[in-house]
Amino acid sequence: MTLRVAVIGAGAAGLSTAWELLGHGCTVEVFESNNGIAEGASFASTGLLGASALAAWDFAGPPPVPQGRAASLLPPAWALTVPGMVFWRQRLSHQSTDRQDTLFAAAQALAQLTDQCVDTHLHSTLQDIETTAGAVVAWKSESQRQQLSGGVERIRRTPGALRELDPTQARALETAVGPDMVFAGAIALPGDRVINGRQWLARLKHDIVQLGGVVHTRSRVTGLDANGTVHVSAEDRSGTSSLAFDAVVVCAASDSAALVKPLGIELPMLVLSHCSLSAPIREATHAPSTAWIDADERIIISRTGQRLRASGGTLVPGASPKAVFKSLYRAVEDWFPGATTLHGDKALVQTWQSCVGHTADGLPLVGATHHPRIWVNSGHGGRGWTFAAGASRLLAELITGQTPSIAPSCLAPLRSMRGG
Ligand SMILES: Cc1cc2nc3c(=O)[nH]c(=O)nc-3n(C[C@H](O)[C@H](O)[C@H](O)COP(=O)(O)OP(=O)(O)OC[C@H]3O[C@@H](n4cnc5c(N)ncnc54)[C@H](O)[C@@H]3O)c2cc1C
Repeated sequence: MTLRVAVIGAGAAGLSTAWELLGHGCTVEVFESNNGIAEGASFASTGLLGASALAAWDFAGPPPVPQGRAASLLPPAWALTVPGMVFWRQRLSHQSTDRQDTLFAAAQALAQLTDQCVDTHLHSTLQDIETTAGAVVAWKSESQRQQLSGGVERIRRTPGALRELDPTQARALETAVGPDMVFAGAIALPGDRVINGRQWLARLKHDIVQLGGVVHTRSRVTGLDANGTVHVSAEDRSGTSSLAFDAVVVCAASDSAALVKPLGIELPMLVLSHCSLSAPIREATHAPSTAWIDADERIIISRTGQRLRASGGTLVPGASPKAVFKSLYRAVEDWFPGATTLHGDKALVQTWQSCVGHTADGLPLVGATHHPRIWVNSGHGGRGWTFAAGASRLLAELITGQTPSIAPSCLAPLRSMRGG
């Protein structure tokens, strides 16, 4: 029997889920409330895929602020709300070395599966998608190097995954780094890449339609029933409708929790906001040739095609992003002076922020719920490009009853977030 599956959301998670399900013999309809695809968190994020995402942050949610020793004692600003405090306490419960090893192994397996899935899709498409190879994580302080040491050690266990660099070697690799920038060391991760996420998702959508899938835009899912009925409000002439499916996959990012809550499903996510600024490259030789991560500031500076992008910040939704944007401007000017024009009449800077659902253990929510027809692919936090495609392959395997490529239990959507 061919399974008929509804996918809610057309970002990185939803479109890669749809593509994988079609590849596993299902028929698929995607419902997206926006006018087009990739207009949520997948719109202007960096699109960095690979191990650097696993090195720069530990495996217990988003990075703590302030940095250094005080970080383990003082909660960051985003934790000073009731849900934030609960999340922060859960996050701290995952700090033991054994627990971090387990979380790292699960994250690495998922990141590697993503790599395979993205490669499969890129090789199957004739259109060139903009990508930049490699990433460098640089640190300015000893305390920052120590904070990274756990992740770096774990990545080092994979032969050839990283190369340690002193500042001279790092400058030789990335010649555009500003001469006045002072930093203490770096690691290079040659297997990482930045992908133009929107371009890739546009291609995925095209291929989904070619394979017989349907992508409904301007179609908000207003509710779900446990029996697989999806209630849709479409902004075109079709109005509201209720459609029955064999399975429903909720890929609605930060809105996922509200969608499934009426079914008694509590998704353990904290919604936080992150920012990016993008600008055309003015002088190519002054722009980064790899993704450059300032570990102290938790800022990624990257290039895709003719555009330079910097992203970072962790904010409670609704908080003013002014200070974050200031730090993004400063990071671009300090690390890559002259690469782009950020001020004056000629500046064409796009600033953007979006909400993302984070989990306290840093792994996404992927798999079955206690309702057999309702599935989840959400909670990707700041690693959606690194995780979503692999998560979608896993989901398609689980829904169609095939042997999963990776162990699903660490990713189960209803798992406990208490590390013990
Ligand atoms: C500034 C920034 C930088 C980032 N950098 C990186 C990076 O370098 N590497 C990395 O791995 N990750 C990064 N991320 C994270 C990554 O972008 C996200 O994890 C990923 O895009 C999430 O994809 P998604 O499909 O889950 O969510 P989204 O792209 O938000 O898609 C969800 C979709 O669901 C739709 N939707 C919601 N509710 C409904 C409804 N009721 N009915 C119909 N549709 C609905 C929304 O409109 C949206 O289009 C970054 C994020 C940000 C914000």
